[in-house]
Amino acid sequence: MDTISTESCLNTKDNTFSLEGFLLDLEKLVNIDSGHGATEGATRVGLMLAEPLVKRGWIIERHNISPNIGECIVLKNRQAERFDALLLGHVDTVFPAGESAERPFYRDEERAYGPGVFDMKQGCLAIVNALLAMSPQANEALNIAVIFNTDEEISSVYSTPLIRSYAERSEHAFVFEPVMEESGRCIERRGVFRFTFQFKGKACHSSILRSQGGRSAIAEMGYWIVALWELNNDETDTTVNPGIVKGGKAANIVADFAELTVDVRIKTLEEQDKVLAKLEELQEHARSVGIITTEVDRRTRPPMIPDERTKCYAEHLRELSLSMGIPFKLWTGGGASDGNTAANSGAITIDRLGPGGGEGHTADEYMLINSVEPNIRFFHAILEDLAQLKSAQ
Ligand SMILES: [Zn+2]
Repeated sequence: MDTISTESCLNTKDNTFSLEGFLLDLEKLVNIDSGHGATEGATRVGLMLAEPLVKRGWIIERHNISPNIGECIVLKNRQAERFDALLLGHVDTVFPAGESAERPFYRDEERAYGPGVFDMKQGCLAIVNALLAMSPQANEALNIAVIFNTDEEISSVYSTPLIRSYAERSEHAFVFEPVMEESGRCIERRGVFRFTFQFKGKACHSSILRSQGGRSAIAEMGYWIVALWELNNDETDTTVNPGIVKGGKAANIVADFAELTVDVRIKTLEEQDKVLAKLEELQEHARSVGIITTEVDRRTRPPMIPDERTKCYAEHLRELSLSMGIPFKLWTGGGASDGNTAANSGAITIDRLGPGGGEGHTADEYMLINSVEPNIRFFHAILEDLAQLKSAQ
């Protein structure tokens, strides 16, 4: 098996940084397919990341949650009831098997390219490098857990309970999703709630639909689409998008089947409740017109809402960052992440700590090479600072 360096690219003794070392390791990770379906590759990437820490005595747990995904890896610097820091990174990408052979890792002066180079193998590798550079005092003072999951890009459908079980026992959660070129760190994200309903009506010839009691699944689905569309609200930043519709066989047949998939984004739980209430109402409507509805899929990620402790800690990190000459700002854009689960489980959650870049989820995805060092140095400083805060308590 391929291995990555067991020494951190950040050398705290002489304060040097080996960017080349980081990029060599990143190349190895990017050139292994680990997207949906590439379960073996995902497991391999997780184990490669874990190895340097295991060699330093970290405890490894391999969670084989589902045959549909690679193993999720948990690393801990010791067994503990509670953790000061939970570090989250996902090793899966959105790309199919074969992608990395087609367009393997390459780089120019400024950027590195390849599947998952920015979302987020660089973030996972940053975690390992920051931990390897941690001082013995910080390692002694802090209880740390790391999770490398393999299904984030499919809404962490399998790993969410595992993440939740650790986040509930962690004071802080640090998520290594990438900083985008225009973005900053993140303590707030909208929640995502995606559902698919099937509609079953009664088919008949279109010319006699009234007299023969035809019940159109498509007509009912259309009623739902209009009603759901009205929930879009700029003020509350709620978006409701009927993204996929299916149904119908011919223009002269009343459709007895239709299917609708909707993607909802909400900032608050109240807004989520509004959408849920509307769904109840719509199901009632369907029953009243003789259409049977079945919800066949639902995926939810609660909104990531910063509480006072989180806002306060983010301000503390702003000072720390600026004191190192690293710009700091907060940014609320982008989709959901495992940070949503961590924040919702009560951990003070800071997201977008991974090295930066852009064009995630496309073939143009890139990482900015000069963002590696400041981001690893920053997180290393966060750990040392956290250890000092804890010892001062
Ligand atoms: Zn990601």
